[in-house]
Amino acid sequence: MRTDGFDTVRLLLRNYSEQANKEIHSLKDPKDIYAKKKEILDYFTNVVYKEQDLSELLSSFFERWGFEKKFKFTIAIIDLEMINNDTIPIYQNEGFLNRKRPNTGVRTSLSDNFKEKIMVNWFNLEDNNYRFIFEYYIDFSDKQKVILKETSVFLAMSILSILVVVIIFMITYKNLMEEKRLSDLKTDFINNMTHELKTPLSTITVAGKTLEMKQIRDDDAKILETAKLIGKQSVHLNQLINMILEISMWERTQFQLDKKTVEIEEIMNDVIDSFKSGGGNNASIYKKYNFGGAKVDLDIVYFTTLLNNLLSNAVKYSEKQPVIDIEGFWQDNNICIKVSDNGIGINKIDQKHIFDKFYRASTGNIHKFKGLGLGLYYVKKITEAHGGDVTVSSKPGKGSIFTVTLPKN
Ligand code: ADP
Repeated sequence: MRTDGFDTVRLLLRNYSEQANKEIHSLKDPKDIYAKKKEILDYFTNVVYKEQDLSELLSSFFERWGFEKKFKFTIAIIDLEMINNDTIPIYQNEGFLNRKRPNTGVRTSLSDNFKEKIMVNWFNLEDNNYRFIFEYYIDFSDKQKVILKETSVFLAMSILSILVVVIIFMITYKNLMEEKRLSDLKTDFINNMTHELKTPLSTITVAGKTLEMKQIRDDDAKILETAKLIGKQSVHLNQLINMILEISMWERTQFQLDKKTVEIEEIMNDVIDSFKSGGGNNASIYKKYNFGGAKVDLDIVYFTTLLNNLLSNAVKYSEKQPVIDIEGFWQDNNICIKVSDNGIGINKIDQKHIFDKFYRASTGNIHKFKGLGLGLYYVKKITEAHGGDVTVSSKPGKGSIFTVTLPKN
């Protein structure tokens, strides 16, 4: 039994009950007595329920027992007696109060909407004019809501940390994949380069051995032919080495263009002619230019490399007689050059990567088509250095179209 901490309640009830006791004493009609009792009960209920004392008591109780203060609580008056000075009850509560627990429906209006009640304490308050017992209850029906509210910050933080971990994991995974891709590219490049360098080298070695043979040394025509072969392979070897050297230089220094004002049609004709004479003569090349003899600023050496790479790819990646269309026209004051072929074409996935350094489409790595995966990387670098762009559109089995756009100046 605890009755401490109810000073305000006591004061209010004392004043009220003194008067109420007198009033109820003077009543004769049972109906009036019943109504008065009900009035007294309501008053007591309201006072106890509303008074700060109770809330404070409950708070300290909650704290002591480690309950959450956010739960709803209620009281249930289980006994109320109006007593005289000798503590003899004058009027008891029977008839409208019963001692049933609230979860079976006690008659206090304040506890009606409580679902999961647990009685946590009871009080016996006694004074000159009344004796009063009440219990108080906590409603745990809201526990999920309360727990959720209480844990929401931790929950949000946990979700956030999980998210951060997932994001970090994804970034790490992406980086790892990118590193693996680059490392695969490098390995492929080294394999391809070794293969590429070995071919002219072994030809030169065999040619050298041939020259040592007596019957060859006596045949001038054969010597000349072998010497030409050695020369050709040496040039090729030199080109390969230059290509590799050049790329490492590009990585270290800014692309330096040596622009000259030239007639675009003239320079394109020169490139195509020398391409034809240098091995591209098995290809049918159709020129369709419409530049109107305009002059533009270009780095001739790089532009030649650009066009050469596109032409040699058009021939290299073809399994039938190569047919190449070269279109040239103005588009919004830009030079537009389209190189179309009837070759093997490029699938959608490879199209996204063919301009990357060392990238070779999957069939490229099995040495069916020789290469280092640098030709289109050069094309891209050169167009960008001129302030332009290069794109591809292709259908596997049908052919490819490379479009180079360069600003006029
Ligand atoms: P390389 O020819 O040395 O492999 P490139 O950078 O020139 O390197 O080309 C990259 C890849 O793009 C090639 O491996 C090839 O698969 C594809 N490719 C380039 N041009 C063509 C083309 N005209 N037709 C089909 N595939 C091409």
